[in-house]
Amino acid sequence: MTTEQPGLFDIPEKKAEKPPEARKIIKSRPQIPFLPGVKYYESFPEIIDIEMLRQKASGCNGCGLRENCQQVVFGSGNTRSGIMFIGEGPGRDEDIQGIPFVGRAGQLLDKILAAADFDRQEVYIANVVKCRPPENRLPRTEEVQRCRNYLEAQIRIIQPKIIICLGSLATKTVIDPKAKITEVRGKWFNRQDIMIMGTFHPAALLRNEHYKRPVWEDFKLIRQAFASLDIK
Ligand code: SF4
Repeated sequence: MTTEQPGLFDIPEKKAEKPPEARKIIKSRPQIPFLPGVKYYESFPEIIDIEMLRQKASGCNGCGLRENCQQVVFGSGNTRSGIMFIGEGPGRDEDIQGIPFVGRAGQLLDKILAAADFDRQEVYIANVVKCRPPENRLPRTEEVQRCRNYLEAQIRIIQPKIIICLGSLATKTVIDPKAKITEVRGKWFNRQDIMIMGTFHPAALLRNEHYKRPVWEDFKLIRQAFASLDIK
């Protein structure tokens, strides 16, 4: 029996109903990772504390990205938050400051969060890869495959109720490798009792202002869901 999480698109729509006992066993089996493709034993299952995980990541040389960046940009915000935002990877400003989403795209994200009545300090923000790709190129498949183990562990430790994927890479990494952001954005998915939505990356809004309206529509849904779950 596989312990790997399938992408959401690989789950048959109509599954045979399992008897209650079987459902209970599946729900209580913690070694099934959250992210598609992640192997449980590679996602630092022995680490149960976010600070320990941060330290582990800060010494990581798991892929070639660490050679060319200044530091590992682990994540920031409230580690007890019910909502987590996941972007692609650090850019130049993030690499200098060691904090995700602090450049132009980050400033726009702050504005979007504020407009949707979120305080940046109350949410948790991380990226799929923790080290800056040279010249801000897209992270390569093998780099994502290495680094998503940290993201898996972050999700496992923080236990958000809502995950928002900012952009295509996060959407493919979290929802399904075959997911297209233009098709899935604004739609809720559910896995392991976590609500997941993809929306456009703030950097895409800076390049194309036609994305502003759909992103605002998505954030209204996100605010509604956050309020209805009565989470902090
Ligand atoms: S990008 Fe991730 S896997 Fe690669 S060196 Fe940095 S922390 Fe390690």
